[in-house]
Amino acid sequence: MSAPRRPGAARDPAGQGRPIRVVPMRGAGELVAPAPRAAPSTAQLTYRGGPLLTAVEVVTVFWGAAWNDVAAQATAQALNGFFQFVVASPYLDQLAEYGTSQLKIGRGRYAGTARVTDTAPGTSVTDSAIQEMLQGALARTSLPARTANTVYFAFLPPGVTVVAGSERSCQAFCGYHDRSAGGLYYAVVPYPDCTGCLGTLGPIDALTSVCSHELAEAITDPVPGQGWYDDAKGEIGDICAWQNKQLGTYEVQLLWSNRAQACV
Ligand SMILES: [Zn+2]
Repeated sequence: MSAPRRPGAARDPAGQGRPIRVVPMRGAGELVAPAPRAAPSTAQLTYRGGPLLTAVEVVTVFWGAAWNDVAAQATAQALNGFFQFVVASPYLDQLAEYGTSQLKIGRGRYAGTARVTDTAPGTSVTDSAIQEMLQGALARTSLPARTANTVYFAFLPPGVTVVAGSERSCQAFCGYHDRSAGGLYYAVVPYPDCTGCLGTLGPIDALTSVCSHELAEAITDPVPGQGWYDDAKGEIGDICAWQNKQLGTYEVQLLWSNRAQACV
């Protein structure tokens, strides 16, 4: 899951609104405090024996007639371009350390996109409605065929709140991934129309950051908690939430590396 960034709480991996701890200024006459640094992390992802996506195939699904709009289509195109780039980039190579002797994690591919407009998400949509939308679109073969490595990324238009269990987008999360009741791997990315999900970024950069987080988690922990997981800190993206870097022309989130013992 990708948690919102609370205003005034920089680098808050657990999303609990804890403020960053800064090094205090020294005595009078001395200039200053050193630049704040992130606290050293002690995370360790361990493998729980479940599936891993060894050659991910990403399908993007844009739900709602709002995506017919010209500006929204430009956003969708930017996201599709991002996935084409990222699945064949060093971002995926970073995940190789989480391969096993049976399951080597390599690069993947972008497998296609669809716009679903025969049903409408409304202004508030539940996780189960999103699962049904995906199942329905697959059944009508309007989505690229599914393989064992397919992840469907479902995008909602601006103004649509996603409700998953008791939690809501822009209050508790900015995105999540899961396996559906029907066995589909999917991620849900609401439009970031709140400060908590934008941080200091523009919408496209915020979207690619959240997408990179969920993509890495869908590959290394496709059934949440059954792949690579840290009982205290969660999945590979959660440990490094809201720490970003530029990759090519895109904003992506850092990921936890057991090997480096750092967010990289
Ligand atoms: Zn996450």
